[in-house]
Amino acid sequence: MQLKDSVIIVTGGGQGLGRAMAEYLAGRGARLALVDLDQARLDEAVNACKAAGGDARAYVCNVANEDQVSAMVNQVADDFGTINGLINNAGILRDGLLLKAKDGQIQKMSLSQWQSVIDVNLTGVFLGTREVAAKMVELGSKGLIINISSISRAGNMGQSNYSAAKAGVAALTVVWAKELARYGIRVAGIAPGFIETEMTGGMKPEALEKMTAGIPLRRMGKPEEIAHSAAYLFENDYYSGRILELDGGLRL
Ligand code: NAP
Repeated sequence: MQLKDSVIIVTGGGQGLGRAMAEYLAGRGARLALVDLDQARLDEAVNACKAAGGDARAYVCNVANEDQVSAMVNQVADDFGTINGLINNAGILRDGLLLKAKDGQIQKMSLSQWQSVIDVNLTGVFLGTREVAAKMVELGSKGLIINISSISRAGNMGQSNYSAAKAGVAALTVVWAKELARYGIRVAGIAPGFIETEMTGGMKPEALEKMTAGIPLRRMGKPEEIAHSAAYLFENDYYSGRILELDGGLRL
């Protein structure tokens, strides 16, 4: 698949990995539909994509809201005339232990802490893929859907919600690659390790240092390194149903 003139939706495209992937793909001539929650942040990202050389538009949309996702996909198809790709990248963290016994009290992960991550990181991926794939079939367009999973899909302490969602996303990549191949739609995943973004920027410095020391390459990944792999997945027409691991050799 050629990136030039391909229309690609990137969720969580306002910052971090989403923005880095969008800018990189824009630099290869792709046309980007950036989806995020904040208009001002989206506007900045749109300008950055245009400066990189590609067309881009902003769509404020909560990926966990069925009506908003459906409306966004229709709008993108109307605005660009087609859709060739989707990167399901929007994601949140709400870390915590399943339970913690302290001073005779047991603190538990709340249902809302669990559900909010499942809603965005798993249901959001389901909704985005379902709506985009349906629109691509309707329009007769072919292409690729990339799901952003995580190294945490193996099971990371303090991340019951996040690990479950990211393992789900990895499994769905395999399911959808099988189901959608007949329509000319490939589905692939990327499982990043620890990458320098606003998400990891929120971690305590001691935790970051400890974590980096455990990475065989002794550094965090850069957003551009994830973006480089996303471009490769678009361009390699035989890649489907698998998760590309980009973690500097780290194993949880
Ligand atoms: P980030 O810097 O927090 O960016 C995520 C973006 O998604 C933010 O702009 C966020 O907006 C947006 N978003 C959150 N909820 C949304 C929703 N319901 N609808 C639409 N947009 C929403 O995160 P990142 O580090 O770039 O991570 C991107 C993806 O990579 C995530 O799926 C993450 O789990 C995955 N990942 C990241 C790393 C890493 O080390 N950074 C490692 C493995 C996997 P708000 O800021 O307003 O919430």
